[in-house]
Amino acid sequence: MGEIEEVKRQVIAEVDRLAPKLWEAAQIIGRNPELGHQETQAVATLTRLLASGDIEAEIGVAGLATAWRARVGSRRRPTVALLAEMDALPNIGHGCGHNLIGPSAVGATLALKVVEEYLPGSVLLLGTPAEESTVENSGGKVHLIRAGEFDNVDACIMFHPSQYTNMSLEGSLAARGVDFIYHGKAAHTSLYPWDGINALDGVLHTFAGINALRQHVRPEIRMHGVVTSGGGVPNVVPQMASCRFRVRAPDAEQLESVFRQVVQCAEGGALMAGARLEVGEYMPPYENVVPNLTLAQAFRKNLEAIGLTVLDGRPEPGLGSTDFGNVTRRVPSIEAGISICEPDAPHHSAAFAEAALSEKAHGALIAAAKGLAMTAIDLLTDPMLLGEAQKEFAAGPGRLRPQV
Ligand SMILES: [Zn+2]
Ligand SMILES: [Zn+2]
Repeated sequence: MGEIEEVKRQVIAEVDRLAPKLWEAAQIIGRNPELGHQETQAVATLTRLLASGDIEAEIGVAGLATAWRARVGSRRRPTVALLAEMDALPNIGHGCGHNLIGPSAVGATLALKVVEEYLPGSVLLLGTPAEESTVENSGGKVHLIRAGEFDNVDACIMFHPSQYTNMSLEGSLAARGVDFIYHGKAAHTSLYPWDGINALDGVLHTFAGINALRQHVRPEIRMHGVVTSGGGVPNVVPQMASCRFRVRAPDAEQLESVFRQVVQCAEGGALMAGARLEVGEYMPPYENVVPNLTLAQAFRKNLEAIGLTVLDGRPEPGLGSTDFGNVTRRVPSIEAGISICEPDAPHHSAAFAEAALSEKAHGALIAAAKGLAMTAIDLLTDPMLLGEAQKEFAAGPGRLRPQV
């Protein structure tokens, strides 16, 4: 027991020593926001930092240009995975604070390298691209799962910047993303409008249908869309129009049912317009997060040991979606939120992006790196704890196969 405490003291000291470098990396990534699957500068920054501590990273894992992998530890199992998200949002930049996630996970990994000889297992650090569903084929973690990157992982922990410092016990919504494309027929809108088939009408009818459906679904359900193409000019009947929707529900089963209803609205819209409809999902489904309470307890203790006050979940309603959900269905997992701002700076806002570069964010990043490293030490050195987490996982809502 005393030895573990001494090992933890060493990683805390190492994170403190690395703090300026970690903060510099967070600043570089924060000031140069990159969208999903394009996080090349973030990858270069993070892997260079790892290299400075003699940790080699492999870039281009799972066929994704900006996914990467690094490992610390002499033996493979048990293996604890740490995750590094890197992507930003269009126009808002790092309004989700992912510029802090990579450097914190890298900081933890570098610190664990220093105590490698005491670790009876390994730490797998995965660079996970495109968490935000803003790009085609987002969900880097889903792709990594499909490629088998989590097959030999025993537990997974990560940090996400937040308004609150909490273990994310509230879960998340399962989500799917879909494109509806309507094909009509162009015609002069004044001379021969009767010859045209208005694809834009298909989009408008679809929105009307989904807005009517909204009243008849459970309150947790979310359906939100944008028009991605609405025709060209008013004097030509739009030949093609399209919209993109995200549909979210508490679990995959409820999602399946409401998703079918949303598709029916699109089919109805196309039918009314006389247009031909094309339906395509633009990203893999995100499953809902199932938090592991055993891991949450261990992570919480470590954050409290370094002086943080940790809530159980967000103290207000409202859930998002994340590809971390798929990870939680594959291995016992927990995410900790650490506050970087006041509660009135919402996620996905310019205010949150600004907070992600603030002094408070600096403190959160360093605390996260320490908490991750300390919790990884617990999981690698305490077979009872890991066993308990795995028992809870096995008894949970069941190990779901990743959806393909
Ligand atoms: Zn986000
Ligand atoms: Zn995020």
